[in-house]
Amino acid sequence: MSAKIISGTEVAKAIREELKTEVTELKEKHDIVPGLVTILVGEDPASQSYVSAKNKTAHALGIHSEQVTLAADTTEQDLLATVEKYNKDKNIHGILVQLPLPKHINETNILYAIDPDKDVDGFHPVNVGKMVLGEECFLPCTPHGILELLTRSGVETSGAEVVIIGRSNIVGKPIANLMLQKRKGGNATITLCHTRTKDMAAHCKRADIIIAAVGVPKMVTADMVKDGVVVIDVGVNRIGKTAEGKAILAGDVDFDAVKEKASYITPVPGGVGPMTITMLMKNTVQAAKQIAGVK
Ligand code: NAP
Repeated sequence: MSAKIISGTEVAKAIREELKTEVTELKEKHDIVPGLVTILVGEDPASQSYVSAKNKTAHALGIHSEQVTLAADTTEQDLLATVEKYNKDKNIHGILVQLPLPKHINETNILYAIDPDKDVDGFHPVNVGKMVLGEECFLPCTPHGILELLTRSGVETSGAEVVIIGRSNIVGKPIANLMLQKRKGGNATITLCHTRTKDMAAHCKRADIIIAAVGVPKMVTADMVKDGVVVIDVGVNRIGKTAEGKAILAGDVDFDAVKEKASYITPVPGGVGPMTITMLMKNTVQAAKQIAGVK
């Protein structure tokens, strides 16, 4: 059996079309233009390219976007003042501070300073707490994207044995929480693995769904999975460069071998990646509606 490929590029495209319509309606019926600000500190090339992709996507959907770039030696106080400025800005509904921040800035202090109503990354403890309680909130973008990939592909999560590898605050922990909620895309039985897990292969072998968010190229191999497994590969690992100097990417899963046993699998690139930015846009539109009181 060769797996059905879940194309994040295609699913993201469909969601972006829905968002475009929503943004047009917001403008026509309520005179609201959703606004997003991205704040970047320093000149890290990967962060620069992420921020530029976010602004480009916002623009394409009709979302107003502002890009603030601060010098690498910006003080924590100055960054807090910038966040506060946008907390008060009526034209901005979503604030995204690009991580990681330079070492002299306390990331937690910055994330806690963002108005939870504008926290479109879903990292503020108010939103994290609401997510755990199953209340309406901004869901973190990558886990939200994974849920959309599963549900839109018709993958049944209710009663499924889900093995998640990686327990970071941005992927592993939140996706574990979301998939055990009593709702669509949830009701799964969760096993969360990490570096202290004994016998990773034994856990993976009994999984109906594996979500790999590790950062180790091709760590999940075909002998670790059962026939018919659904595989979501979150990992983005740079494993070399093409002759033209372009990065060669690999996921955390040995795609070519695992796809021969899986029923569904996401590729890298073109799987989870395109979903993350799309869910940021969805959160920005949601923020604009909530702030304006539009249902
Ligand atoms: P992270 O914060 O570095 O966390 C990695 C997790 O994997 C940790 O919990 C770590 O365990 C676990 N781990 C590492 N090596 C392991 C091993 N050999 N065996 C078992 N567990 C191991 O990473 P992250 O931010 O969650 O990102 C994970 C991957 O997803 C990265 O490749 C990243 O680039 C990618 N990513 C992609 C997107 C996207 O939009 N496509 C978004 C976010 C992240 P411990 O906790 O025990 O250290």
